[in-house]
Amino acid sequence: MQRARIVRIEEHHAAVRSFFLAPETMPEFKAGQFVAIALEEGGTERSYSIASRPGNAELELCISLKPDGYMSPALFAMQAGDSVFLSEPRGSFTLPDAQNEVCLICTGTGIAPFRSIILDALHHGDARKFYLISGNRQQSDALYHHEMQQLAAAHPNFQYLPALSREEVAGFAHGYVHPVYEAIFADGRDATFMVCGWTAMLSEARRRLKAMGYNRRQYHFEQYDG
Ligand SMILES: Cc1cc2nc3c(=O)[nH]c(=O)nc-3n(C[C@H](O)[C@H](O)[C@H](O)COP(=O)(O)OP(=O)(O)OC[C@H]3O[C@@H](n4cnc5c(N)ncnc54)[C@H](O)[C@@H]3O)c2cc1C
Repeated sequence: MQRARIVRIEEHHAAVRSFFLAPETMPEFKAGQFVAIALEEGGTERSYSIASRPGNAELELCISLKPDGYMSPALFAMQAGDSVFLSEPRGSFTLPDAQNEVCLICTGTGIAPFRSIILDALHHGDARKFYLISGNRQQSDALYHHEMQQLAAAHPNFQYLPALSREEVAGFAHGYVHPVYEAIFADGRDATFMVCGWTAMLSEARRRLKAMGYNRRQYHFEQYDG
């Protein structure tokens, strides 16, 4: 592990903050990977997806507060200038090579690896069609909402589809994320699905994608708990 200084902290809303880290040596990583954080070298670790694009001067982690938890309350008590310990980038939740449509499905901070993937793909002129279906309870929870809207307006091959389960707001689908991709891919055409978030949403997505006729080579999951 290496020491990383917290350069700044930005609040998305009361329970979610972005932590911008300056490691001693910026690690090379692939969009979609995560790092583990420890408060002291060799200490208890928690994993966090990298939300920034490879090549940036800082690593951004987008972290939600679990008030009874171990790591997130400790991080939320930190300030710019404090340090944490950072693992090398880990994981294989990265964009597959298949040149088909890519459907990214997430809830809450599950958007973090997809932000990195989208920023990286659009930066490199990846011509695939990308859909980002991002679910939250209410509008104020929607992370990176304006940035994603702007990216979608600038890139015809990127469609941003936010959904809210507890509020009806113009510009958002009302309900869970699942009916959104079920409608887009109702014809069962070839696609890559990447799903990120907490267990209940992932289990439901797995069940529904299977029912739509998709197989394990076509869907990929990053589970935040369990
Ligand atoms: C690959 C990966 C990437 C991830 N990326 C992100 C990310 O980008 N952003 C993000 O916010 N999170 C992410 N996570 C989740 C993150 O790693 C932590 O799980 C999360 O921050 C909670 O950690 P904590 O130490 O604060 O809480 P924990 O101490 O782990 O507790 C979590 C919750 O479980 C409850 N709990 C704890 N112990 C028990 C118990 N014994 N019985 C019942 N309940 C218990 C606590 O009350 C709390 O509400 C990711 C996880 C993985 C695996």
